Amino acid sequence: MSSTRPTMQPGQCDICFKVLSRVSDLPRHKMTHADPGAGKKFTCPSKGCGYETSIRANLNTHMTTHSDAKLHCPNCDKTLKNASSLLVHRKTQHGYEPSAHKDEVELFLIWSCS
Ligand SMILES: [Zn+2]
Ligand SMILES: [Zn+2]
Ligand SMILES: [Zn+2]
Repeated sequence: MSSTRPTMQPGQCDICFKVLSRVSDLPRHKMTHADPGAGKKFTCPSKGCGYETSIRANLNTHMTTHSDAKLHCPNCDKTLKNASSLLVHRKTQHGYEPSAHKDEVELFLIWSCS
């Protein structure tokens, strides 16, 4: 909706200024400019997985499906398979009270991409 662009043609990409023969191809063309690192996508760091999500929490959940992903207890040396096990462990072993520190768990994710 910028009114300052000079003489854009219908079907012209405002990123690379290429003119497409069909206006309907424009959205798909523009997707080729999408930078996977820009903003929205979280990608599974595990080699060969290719899982992508726009929601960070989903990635964390997904990571627990990889057997080589471990959660490291911040209070001792124990590693656990998933966030809920870690939570139970921390509650029972360390008297941890989950509160506003939900994101804390993420800090202790150890990616092991062998
Ligand atoms: Zn373009
Ligand atoms: Zn994955
Ligand atoms: Zn512990």
